[in-house]
Amino acid sequence: MKVLITGGAGFIGSHVVRLFANKYPDYHIYNLDLLTYAGNLENLKDVENLPNYTFIKGDIVDQYFIDGLFETYKFDSVIHLAAESHVDRSIADPLAFVKTNVIGTMNLLNAFKTLWKDNFKSKLFYHISTDEVYGSLGQEGFFTEKTSYDPNSPYSASKASSDHFVRAYGETYGMPYIISNCSNNYGENQFPEKLIPLFINNIIHNKPLPVYGDGNYTRDWLYVKDHAIAIDLVFHKGKNHETYNIGGFNEWKNIDLVKLLCQQMDEKLNREKGTSEKLITYVKDRPGHDLRYAIDATKINKELGWKPSVTFEEGLDITIDWYLSNEDWLQSITNGDYQNYYQKQYH
Ligand code: NAD
Repeated sequence: MKVLITGGAGFIGSHVVRLFANKYPDYHIYNLDLLTYAGNLENLKDVENLPNYTFIKGDIVDQYFIDGLFETYKFDSVIHLAAESHVDRSIADPLAFVKTNVIGTMNLLNAFKTLWKDNFKSKLFYHISTDEVYGSLGQEGFFTEKTSYDPNSPYSASKASSDHFVRAYGETYGMPYIISNCSNNYGENQFPEKLIPLFINNIIHNKPLPVYGDGNYTRDWLYVKDHAIAIDLVFHKGKNHETYNIGGFNEWKNIDLVKLLCQQMDEKLNREKGTSEKLITYVKDRPGHDLRYAIDATKINKELGWKPSVTFEEGLDITIDWYLSNEDWLQSITNGDYQNYYQKQYH
């Protein structure tokens, strides 16, 4: 089976590529990634020489490139993760999110429709999405697969739009698809613009920890390797034309999470208790900030037997240890050196 994974050099994508390339030697894994600021091939050093793995640098927004690529490789299925993924960047430049997340997804849908010639046997378009498409919850309740879409940021609006197009290609043309909507991920190799790695990096360097608003925004956190395991299960056992919510049943107010992180970092860095908390700085709120996200992951648990394998404290512990023992990685990300890796490795 020729499996295309888009965005495989990104945070979640690199964990999915590693899992699939190692677990399924009979599959050939094609990792298609533009290597934007968020894509880092150093994340996949341990995979790049496997015989069943090929990296392809390219832009999903470039329709001619995509059409040609599909003619050459004739993929059997796709796990589509490539996206612009940072809400703050979507507020600054919404159009970039429309291009990659909406037009890019459309180009893939059209290329698969042409390639598969409406013969969809054993084919699958698996679209990776986010819980942010559901908008914001009040103090109570959970997002289920039946919750209406109500996106509030340009990022979530672009992801919601791409979800709708995937579903529409399923209903209109009969394309086999699955969508999963996951909560906030954390773990190894996450670009340090996102909350947990940003704060770990800032604590290491005694820099302020900027907390939006009053810090009461609530998110449901999931360890990235548990997300990759869920993606594997959904890809192989999920039902055609279905949606699965993936989450950790693990809600944290931002401020409580930051305090836990500070405590764990103080212990690991042998700093006096309370040292890192002094770095917390409240900053002006993000516009359109959703108050609370919480996933009801009952369906994937009941139907596919998935549940998170680690608690939040365990996952955070592993994550902090990884960042502390990979300061070179953090350094090369923050000074931009990682962007030369492709040149060095692939000329
Ligand atoms: P990321 O930003 O770390 O990685 C995105 C990858 O896509 C990068 O490697 C980047 O180079 C690549 N890419 C961007 N534009 C491209 C283009 N035009 N053509 C080809 N490649 C391109 O993102 P992530 O956090 O790993 O998220 C992956 C997917 O999972 C996204 O679709 C995101 O919406 C979804 N998701 C993320 C989270 C989370 O907490 N990070 C939660 C739920 C869902």
